[in-house]
Amino acid sequence: MNLNHFRFETDADGIALATWDSPGKTMNVITQDVMTELNTIIAHVASTEGVKGCVITSGKDAFSGGADLTMLQGLGLEYAKLAKSQGEEAAITFFFEATARLSQLYRKLETCGKPFAAAVHGTCLGGAFELALACHYRVLSDSDKTRVGLPEVKVGLFPGAGGTQRVARLMQTGDALQMLFKGDQIKPAAARSMNLVHAVLPRDQIVQAAKEWIKAGGSAKAPWDIEGFKNPSNKVHSAPGMMIWPPANAIYRRETSDNYPAAKAILQSVYEGLQLPMDLALRVESRYFAMILRTPEAAAMIRSLFLSKGELEKGARRPADIPPTKFKRIGVVGAGFMGAGITYVAAQAGIQVVLIDRDIEAAEKGKAYSHKLMSDQIMKGRAKSADRDALLAKITTSADYSMLKGCDLVIEAVFEDRAVKETVIKKIAENIGRKTILASNTSTLPISSLSEYFERPSQFIGIHFFSPVEKMLLVELIMGKRTKDRALAVALDFVRAIKKTPIVVNDCRGFFANRCVLNYIREGHIMLAEGVPPAMIENVAKMAGMPVGPLSLNDEVALDLGWKILQATKKDLGADAIDSRQEALLKTMVVDLQRFGRKNGKGFYDYAEKGKALWPGLADLQKVKLDADSINKQELKDRFLAIQALEAARTVEEKVIVDVREADVGSILGFGFAPYTGGTLSYIDRMGTKDFTALCERLAKKHGDRFKPNKLLKQMAKTNESFYGRFAPKKAAA
Ligand code: NAD
Repeated sequence: MNLNHFRFETDADGIALATWDSPGKTMNVITQDVMTELNTIIAHVASTEGVKGCVITSGKDAFSGGADLTMLQGLGLEYAKLAKSQGEEAAITFFFEATARLSQLYRKLETCGKPFAAAVHGTCLGGAFELALACHYRVLSDSDKTRVGLPEVKVGLFPGAGGTQRVARLMQTGDALQMLFKGDQIKPAAARSMNLVHAVLPRDQIVQAAKEWIKAGGSAKAPWDIEGFKNPSNKVHSAPGMMIWPPANAIYRRETSDNYPAAKAILQSVYEGLQLPMDLALRVESRYFAMILRTPEAAAMIRSLFLSKGELEKGARRPADIPPTKFKRIGVVGAGFMGAGITYVAAQAGIQVVLIDRDIEAAEKGKAYSHKLMSDQIMKGRAKSADRDALLAKITTSADYSMLKGCDLVIEAVFEDRAVKETVIKKIAENIGRKTILASNTSTLPISSLSEYFERPSQFIGIHFFSPVEKMLLVELIMGKRTKDRALAVALDFVRAIKKTPIVVNDCRGFFANRCVLNYIREGHIMLAEGVPPAMIENVAKMAGMPVGPLSLNDEVALDLGWKILQATKKDLGADAIDSRQEALLKTMVVDLQRFGRKNGKGFYDYAEKGKALWPGLADLQKVKLDADSINKQELKDRFLAIQALEAARTVEEKVIVDVREADVGSILGFGFAPYTGGTLSYIDRMGTKDFTALCERLAKKHGDRFKPNKLLKQMAKTNESFYGRFAPKKAAA
């Protein structure tokens, strides 16, 4: 056999071992070539008399990340080309065959007559786990690195190589649907108890165990191919089935607002597939897969949440000529809410942290946050107390700035007060070496102005984290007017070390994410002032695809903070720069009623131990009350998304954002902008700049100048030019 991606050997017992180890790659991925070689292996095992069966394993640290999504993207382009040159039918035929290839290959493996076993260590996700599911026996290593799962739904796809059918035949339908909807990565013990795998063993025993299973006469028939097989939840059309399907539908609608075609296809695929024999069921799944792959949602989500996100994480914006920094020690000054979080993620990444505050007690309080987070992990069985000790040993608390000596990077996260920041920056400057990069986590103060307090402004940069730091994936890096490449490179290396996703933006009021999201919150406030029922504001925002309503979000970030920002904007830019309805609402809530949000248990919502509920007093604040049935819900949805996307378009015109990928990735990871759209600019591109500009003009006429399209948009609208067309991102650095 002529193999490049697999090593293949057969032992004295006649048991073959196919070791997947694609040359020159850190991770195995499924490509056309890999499929061809798998096909060769299956044919060889099936037809060679001396071979009893085959174990598939990996020669790398992980099993495989699944299918190469750029290959799937390529198929989409091929389809579009064919549709143009040979017509829709020829294109669809090609597309169906091409996208069903993997599924058919796995079915061939499953029905070839010889037993196959998968011995899995490390990550085994998506198409790779579907390969394991098609094998007749699966054994996982008990390593902490081993994870299995079907995360396709997270990039707008669904498992189209048998995943929906095999999972739904291995466990109760409700559990299967949950697993497919969530797309979580599953640990070995959980995978065993979910009946996804047959055994969990130490890493060095998995191949042997798989071989033993074959040697002991392991069956080459999947359970569903054996006469009399019964679905774990019985028939779809049965009393138990009816306990599942009506609520499943309702849960799907509640969770997705019908915005995610892939989630719907999971539901349809399982519902229809469970009523059919396996071969037909797989064909049904393939049809849905081919349909989903051609949806704009899948294209947008693959581009932003997989490709662009990956490119940014690998350093697409990193200046190439600067050697990478290996962080030995960093400093964090200000051990409050943010400083404590930054300390934790840095220590998690194995970096020594000097944590400084005004006094040692305050610094210790910041360190205690790491203790608490680690203790939570221990309680959940995700860490051991030795891990906590090791992490805490990395954090040195102090009130003495001279401890900052030798740090590669120092991040200040003290009070959002210019005078305090000035004193602190100057004090840090006196205690660090000439090469150290100094960063600020400010959320509102211009980086260029803060850099003036440091004698080496080229080494000053904004590293803007989102709260809570340990959960939020995005970090916004802010280039001051005088920030130079080395500061950017070091900041990007740090973000990479702590495994977060960076976007790089130029200095301006609110930077990128806050600018967009404050518009979203303001739109909610204005709707409230207009008389839209509060519950409708919240629900329609979620129907538009936002993870939380604007009122709820405002409660989380604190109403008094919103009030402060509004007053600062008014002071700096004049009364016209703010909306008087929003000012009046926030004044009532914050100044008159002392309702600050979740932090004092009362904001737009009331917070009780049992949960939260919209504050009934909101109705009394509304001078006008609109009749819910008279409100155009589509228009409310448009307003929520357009006001954010328009702000993103403005940041492109102002060159705050210089790479379209960053606006898209930043908007989804930073503030949850409707992920199915692919982000703020992809949302505009999908509608077309012409239609988007027209929408903004209509909204401006009815609701005010805040919707007026900017110059760039109007220019692009003339020829319906897209953002990805006009500002095509440069190819990522390796
Ligand atoms: P915080 O009030 O929780 O913490 C500030 C800490 O700074 C306190 O521990 C305080 O004792 C310390 N401090 C004050 N003066 C000091 C001094 N002279 N020397 C040393 N330490 C001093 O505030 P926070 O929410 O953690 O915010 C910190 C920074 O992060 C601010 O610039 C804020 O704008 C920014 N930020 C906050 C958020 C958020 O959601 N809270 C998000 C992004 C950025």
